[in-house]
Amino acid sequence: MRWSRLLLATLRDDPQEAEIVSHKLMVRAGLIRKLSGGLYTFMPLGLRALHKVSNIVREEMDRAGAQEILMPALQPAELWERSGRLATMGPGMFRLKDRAERLMTLGPTHEEVVTDLLAGEVSSYRQLPCTVYQIQTKFRDEIRPRFGLMRAKEFIMKDAYSFDTSLEAADASYQAMFDAYVRIFQRCGLDARPVEADTGDIGGKWSHEFMVLADSGEDGIIDCPACGYAANQERAEHADTPANDPECPSPLAVDTPDARTIDDLTALFGCPADRFIKTLIYLADGKPVAALVPGDRDLNENKFKRLLNAKQLVMADDTTIEKVTGAPTGFSGPVGLTIPIYADRTLHGATDRTTGANKADTHLTHVSLERDASVTAFEDLVIVGSGDACPRCGKPMQIKRGIEVGHVFKLGTKYTESFDATYLNDKGQSELMVMGCYGIGVTRTLQAVVEQSHDADGIIWPISVAPYAVSLLLLDPKDPAVCAVVDDLEQTLAARGLDVLVDDREERPGVKFKDADLIGSPIRVVVGAKGLAKGGVEIKLRTSKEVTLVPVEQAADAIAAQATALTEALCP
Ligand code: ATP
Ligand code: MG
Repeated sequence: MRWSRLLLATLRDDPQEAEIVSHKLMVRAGLIRKLSGGLYTFMPLGLRALHKVSNIVREEMDRAGAQEILMPALQPAELWERSGRLATMGPGMFRLKDRAERLMTLGPTHEEVVTDLLAGEVSSYRQLPCTVYQIQTKFRDEIRPRFGLMRAKEFIMKDAYSFDTSLEAADASYQAMFDAYVRIFQRCGLDARPVEADTGDIGGKWSHEFMVLADSGEDGIIDCPACGYAANQERAEHADTPANDPECPSPLAVDTPDARTIDDLTALFGCPADRFIKTLIYLADGKPVAALVPGDRDLNENKFKRLLNAKQLVMADDTTIEKVTGAPTGFSGPVGLTIPIYADRTLHGATDRTTGANKADTHLTHVSLERDASVTAFEDLVIVGSGDACPRCGKPMQIKRGIEVGHVFKLGTKYTESFDATYLNDKGQSELMVMGCYGIGVTRTLQAVVEQSHDADGIIWPISVAPYAVSLLLLDPKDPAVCAVVDDLEQTLAARGLDVLVDDREERPGVKFKDADLIGSPIRVVVGAKGLAKGGVEIKLRTSKEVTLVPVEQAADAIAAQATALTEALCP
């Protein structure tokens, strides 16, 4: 391809709305253009890179035995009614009506459609296991679309779904996808690590996310450098040490006018935050429950929701709090509360703590939790942070930031039950199929590559994903001898299967060098009258400063050898 004929404009300045480096570079290198918030057009260069990621995904899915299908993005809402998710998906799902006034959705994911499909196609154990996948556009009305392709309203996902005869068989399908994901991200040149994850709205039993470590990542990852335990902060556990406090006198009510927060209380009482117990009132599927956490910790709502097995968990409003506790917000406490009370495990054995007194402007000191309140259960409820002890080995853990590029779930029979997706086993009895589901954000993965691989001058593409493997800079477009060498080299490299972008523009060399760095082809080849006079063409890797002068007749071999070495380094 010749740059002079390519729809490609590089930009000197960062786009105003771009907050993270990969977003800036994707726009500046002419890969994407914004239509409106969370909606992007892939320009020729960006689409080439996207196709390369998709092809890697496709090859590895096929290798793992999955079969490609393509399901509609537009889905009848009835399907979502059957799974019960029409109510729980909330405003994140785009809804619309067709001309017959039938409610439709733009698919944010495809569990419903695929389960309905397989329920109709599979009748016998002989057809199982079966894993299908698609690479397709998804729609999500994100609260805050941002970071370019990272969190878009319309994006491309690879979603795969496995169907098995038993939980054990489903484990094997899960493992096959897990292994395929490891290869996919490796081939994309990404350093992505699997971490234990929360299962969220999709339901199901167990899941791993594949995280690309990056400071700009929206997810917190808890990581134990000692034993390798890693989990999304949404689910991370810790080795909690139950309190072992000495006995204390009976509770004493203390006037605490307007002291509603832990900060207010530490100032008033002059003691550290962990001497207080926070009492948080929630509504779980409409019923009030209380969560108790030490004053210096935060409740992990995901853990709490999972513990309660609730479809919906929201903080109670002021009126509910007043009704349940008898006091305004800020003065709730466990003593005398009659709703279910769940306390963090570290509060087991806690004595001499201060809590709300369920009375306006009053707190209770000298509270011994098990003596003075009736706690339903002690469970791990808090957000785990840096320095907390690892649940596996007890050593201190660290917190890191990550970008979720993929997610694998064991779903069990949650969806096959709703859709009556059964098969006949070898004894002729009907059984539910066991499911797994597996997503990769293809467009997010592409941008994650840029987030992880760039320098001050621009993108550094791994050769597997690069729009063009070679940037061939024609420095003197008016010199026939130079043009002849470039034409010849371009054809020879193309014949060897290498993608070459010839910068044949009437621009100064400085501009071409700058742009080559910005668009980030892994191999740069410079052909100019000066170089030819010195004895050849200049070859340089994007990752290195070293320039090698190679005689013209050896250039194609040398470039092809570099390309092979770069490819092999990605996937040994
Ligand atoms: P997140 O927590 O980032 O919102 P999710 O857990 O909702 O993602 P999944 O339902 O697991 O996402 O979707 C599978 C994959 O699709 C994710 O791992 C991610 O790579 C990608 N993805 C999800 N939402 C978006 C989005 N708004 N824009 C781009 N990619 C997305
Ligand atoms: Mg996810």
